[in-house]
Amino acid sequence: MAHVVVLGAGLGGTILAYELRDNLSQGDRISIINKGSKYSFVPSNPWVAVGWRDRESIEVDLEPACKKRNIGLYPQGAKRLHAADSRVELTDGSFIDYDYLVIATGPELAFDEIPGFGPEANTHSVCHIDHALDAKANFEKLVAKPGPVVIGAVQGASCYGPAYEFAFILEKALRDAKVRDQVPMTFVTSEPYIGHLGLDGVGDTKGLLESAMRAKHIKWICNAKVQKFEADKVTVEEVNEDGSTKTIHEVPSTYTMMLPAFRGVEAVRDIEGLTNPRGFILVDKHQRNGKYPNIFAVGVCIAIAPTGKTPVPVGVPKTGFMIESMVTATAKNIARLVRGENPNAQGTWNAVCLADFGDGGIAFVAQPQIPPRNVNWSSEGKWVHAAKIGFEKYFLHKIRSGTAEPFYEKLALQVLGIDKLKAVKFDD
Ligand code: FAD
Repeated sequence: MAHVVVLGAGLGGTILAYELRDNLSQGDRISIINKGSKYSFVPSNPWVAVGWRDRESIEVDLEPACKKRNIGLYPQGAKRLHAADSRVELTDGSFIDYDYLVIATGPELAFDEIPGFGPEANTHSVCHIDHALDAKANFEKLVAKPGPVVIGAVQGASCYGPAYEFAFILEKALRDAKVRDQVPMTFVTSEPYIGHLGLDGVGDTKGLLESAMRAKHIKWICNAKVQKFEADKVTVEEVNEDGSTKTIHEVPSTYTMMLPAFRGVEAVRDIEGLTNPRGFILVDKHQRNGKYPNIFAVGVCIAIAPTGKTPVPVGVPKTGFMIESMVTATAKNIARLVRGENPNAQGTWNAVCLADFGDGGIAFVAQPQIPPRNVNWSSEGKWVHAAKIGFEKYFLHKIRSGTAEPFYEKLALQVLGIDKLKAVKFDD
């Protein structure tokens, strides 16, 4: 009987544990190691930051679902992975041995790479629920004393959708508070053009997002490298195509929220053959590490090469559906290994994303994520806001009930022509 350990109970890890339970026998052990026993729905954080959601509405206690599904839960968190010995050291000094490990630890937020960056210094964040709640308290101060704001994503970031989302959500919240006329807004991004999104654009995301920003009076600076954040301004170097300096901007800002670059978490970083120099886990097309074949990884923690060269470094986003496709492939591959077969399932890594603007939004589907593509579609409308609320409610229900993918989700995805797994033509 195998023991499979899932490290990290976020969007990828939690669903993975449920899918493993569906794919393995009851005699096989499944354990989750997480920092805490709560699941938090990260995509709702931009709403938390303007008071449209609170902590309770987007968090789920994992204990009842884990108990129901016969999954062990270790909320101490991991201190260090000992990959060569197939064991994980927890923060309380105990060890957990595994036959198979799936790393799903998400990102560590690299605020320390730019002076004055991060919620401990001069900026706000929506990457974590605690940051979003802090950002909300400062949003209230902004409404009481309006001033200029800067929103965006810094050099090396890979998560651009939430930066756009938050710019438009904040814009709507400021309009609702009737102070938008006193808040000049600037979007600062490392992308070479608005709507690049780390994917070299999808459909007409460039046109759609530029037009939405013009309509909402949001100015922008692209090819931006932030030099420093201060309490009242952001210093930005705008670069040319060849990387040389074009202009240095000192953008006034009393409220700044920019997405940071990500790197791998400390517990799994700097393990020869397992991680790349930024600590992201190296995996093959079956989500499996080459040096440690009993280790798999899913979600934001895996290494994916950029789509192409850009004047300022721009990473590839790992969106919810892309992560779910990694999860389904991993659960199937581990089940095959436990049965003595070779892994053969491959996630499609298709990028499907809903970016909410508070009262509308844009959606896109990139199949595959690197152009040229078979599906390269984007659209806008009020329906995106409704769909995003649906996605939130549905995902939280899935986590609470311990179900991986009920039939109607499968059906809906297939009707849309979107598959999680690549058709396997041969075993390799
Ligand atoms: P996470 O959900 O971050 O989970 C990682 C887990 O690992 C956490 O529970 C953490 O506590 C745990 N962990 C970390 N270190 C340790 C350790 N040492 N020991 C034990 N546990 C550990 N994608 C979309 O498709 N749609 C969206 O609308 C969307 N919005 C987003 C909004 C924001 C603000 C951000 C940052 C991302 C968004 N994404 C969105 C992208 C992506 O879907 C999310 O980042 C998603 O949460 C990533 O899932 P994950 O499982 O890789 O990591």
